Amino acid sequence: MTLKFARLGTAGNEQPAVIAQDAAGAEKYFSLKALTQDIDGGFLASDGIERTREALEKGELPQISAEGLRIGAPIVRPGAVVAIGLNYTAHAAESGATPPEVPVVFLKPTNTIAGPFDAAPIPPSSEKYDWEVELAIVIGKEASYLSSLSDAEACIAGYAVANDLSERDYQIPGAAGQWTKGKSLPGSTPLGPWLVPASDINAGNLRLQTLVNGEARQDSSTSDMIFHPATIVHHLSQYMVLEPGDVIITGTPEGVALSGRFPFIQPGDAVELEIEGLGRQRQEYFRAQAGAQSGATAHIYA
Ligand code: ZN
Repeated sequence: MTLKFARLGTAGNEQPAVIAQDAAGAEKYFSLKALTQDIDGGFLASDGIERTREALEKGELPQISAEGLRIGAPIVRPGAVVAIGLNYTAHAAESGATPPEVPVVFLKPTNTIAGPFDAAPIPPSSEKYDWEVELAIVIGKEASYLSSLSDAEACIAGYAVANDLSERDYQIPGAAGQWTKGKSLPGSTPLGPWLVPASDINAGNLRLQTLVNGEARQDSSTSDMIFHPATIVHHLSQYMVLEPGDVIITGTPEGVALSGRFPFIQPGDAVELEIEGLGRQRQEYFRAQAGAQSGATAHIYA
């Protein structure tokens, strides 16, 4: 049975839930509160996914209605959001970069994570805000100095959809650009809607797409990645400790606005990002007002 883990409710008050199919194939929502307070690293590290399967089989989880509830990011704010750059050859080319021989690694602040359908702020002075659909890895077991790809594979709890929103003028070296500046903006990592267990999906060959106002932008497959999930986890573990609940976003394929083929995100735009089997997210964009930082945050977290 394919499980989808989700967190439902207003920001900061999300309740853990799992979506599973009944005998007729219809999707039903079940509360996970009997098993855990929330979907976090502790839950994943203590075999939470398997315990959920067992509890569902025994009929121990109460069915709930998700109607009208906000969908939050499917994991509690992690200890780290690690990002991989230029992990698709065609995207490296459209960015004017050479495909890397080892993974390009950067970090995003964990407070950039937002719900998959939350209204998304464009920074007040931004003219080049850009989408990036990415396969997100969620870590289920501590990864440190791993010695094999199979050990790395065993540290992956599951996968989700991420948008690695990027401000290109702030990111790209020029007047003042640095990757950290362009990748740290409020709400710039919408995550979800679901966390799908690694055992329930073949992450190596999934279609990923972006549409802006219904028009196709990105349309590729995770099979085009230069470095695949186990390789990424193994590599990162040589340089940092990955903890349960940590998120790694694995790079974006071609079709971003930076290519020059499409306009950057404008206020009023709707951006939809989908990965086969992992669901679809959709954000409507608005202009954050200068001096109204908390206003932007309220939009994200209210
Ligand atoms: Zn990215």
